[in-house]
Amino acid sequence: MRISIRWKLAGTYFIMIVLTLLLADWLAYTALKDHYLQEREDAYRVHTNVVGTYAGEYILGEYMAMPTLIRDYGNQVDARVVLLNRQGYVVGDSFNEQWIIGMQLKHPEVQAALRGETASGTQYVSDEEWVMYISVPVTRQKEVVGAVLLSTDITDIGEALDSLLRRMVLFSLLGGMLAGLIGLWLSVEVTRPVQELTEAVERVAMGNLDQRVPVHSRDELGQLAKAFNTMAIKLARFDRTRQEFIANASHELKSPLSSIKALAESLTYGDERDVVVYKEYLNDINSEVDRLNRLVHDLLKLAQLEDENTVLQKELQSISDIIQRIVNLMKPQAKLKEISLRAYTPEDIFWPVDRDTLSGVLLNLVDNGIKYTPPGGRVEVECQSQGEELVIRVADTGEGIPPEELPLIFERFYRVDKARARQTGGTGLGLSIVEEGVKLLGGTISVESEPARGTVFTINLPK
Ligand code: ADP
Repeated sequence: MRISIRWKLAGTYFIMIVLTLLLADWLAYTALKDHYLQEREDAYRVHTNVVGTYAGEYILGEYMAMPTLIRDYGNQVDARVVLLNRQGYVVGDSFNEQWIIGMQLKHPEVQAALRGETASGTQYVSDEEWVMYISVPVTRQKEVVGAVLLSTDITDIGEALDSLLRRMVLFSLLGGMLAGLIGLWLSVEVTRPVQELTEAVERVAMGNLDQRVPVHSRDELGQLAKAFNTMAIKLARFDRTRQEFIANASHELKSPLSSIKALAESLTYGDERDVVVYKEYLNDINSEVDRLNRLVHDLLKLAQLEDENTVLQKELQSISDIIQRIVNLMKPQAKLKEISLRAYTPEDIFWPVDRDTLSGVLLNLVDNGIKYTPPGGRVEVECQSQGEELVIRVADTGEGIPPEELPLIFERFYRVDKARARQTGGTGLGLSIVEEGVKLLGGTISVESEPARGTVFTINLPK
């Protein structure tokens, strides 16, 4: 069975408070009981001692007026006084009851007194009646010759204590219930945000990502609600980006496919016989297939970089060696566009990087530099270590990027000049791959650009 936190809290409050109060009740009860009994005992011991002083003469048969004396005394102090001889037989009784005279009393108090000690004790003589016994030895020349046993009714103390205890227990239970109610109210307050959150999480789990919960407080629960909201916003954004990405990717894949289909159909159903035209069409088909290839390649590359399980092989590498290889690889392409491609790198920089990832990043940046720089321009790659950072710059003297477009160029499929996109042959994924690669290397990338003057991409890599 699932018990709600509310009931658990309220129940715990109730039990804790009731137990504590009952314990306190018990301590107070026993302390009070001891106090009352001691008080009563102290008072009556004085009386017992007074009787004890004179009892010797009577017990030894020297003073016969004793019975009247103890009767009056007993009546006055509201107690029964019994005189006993050395063997514990009753020789005098303030109640003057004949049946008790000559009876041997075995009370522990009597026995203690006959041993020469004073003693006291209480006893229930019936359900209702509670009695206190106090005894003193009666001595003559340091010899015990008998004992005085005084008994007094202390039922009043018992009744007072009982009624007190009943009231205390009642108040404890009421207190516990009050605490339980407060606990219930408190736990309702505490669990309300949790419940709201649970419901919101359940809705998110059902696919309804547009969820927010109210933030009631600034404590841990408030922070949890805030964290949930942030997560929900990110999740919704992530979902939107994913949908956009799929739509864009389908669109990008669709256009070369449509071209191929159109070209193939016109060759199949048209009555064109000229081989030159055929070749031209096939050539077009071929370049569309190349384009599809590039797209699929870039998509796979991006997926690989975004895969959380991708592990980098970071090893100490000669950075100038990596850059030089890229420059050599791109040289023919640059030459074709009459662009000067150069690397300025100190020989002695070694840095822990994943060679393939860094090469991929630089290849894309240099490729963009060449693509977006008109003939006669320059593309330069330089690197230097600045303290704990490696800084690589890829600069060109190309067409530049308008400032308002700068924040967007790293987005998937984003192109500044949409119309020219096909012409340059770019997939629109290059800078996304660059950004993911740099992120994977643990670094950052920034861009500065001035239209018609050129663009500089700067990569900072930590050690
Ligand atoms: P593409 O495949 O179109 O080059 P990228 O993701 O590599 O896609 O780049 C996105 C867009 O950013 C490009 O379409 C281009 O408009 C702009 N861009 C990227 N690099 C440069 C550059 N060096 N100079 C000018 N514009 C650039």
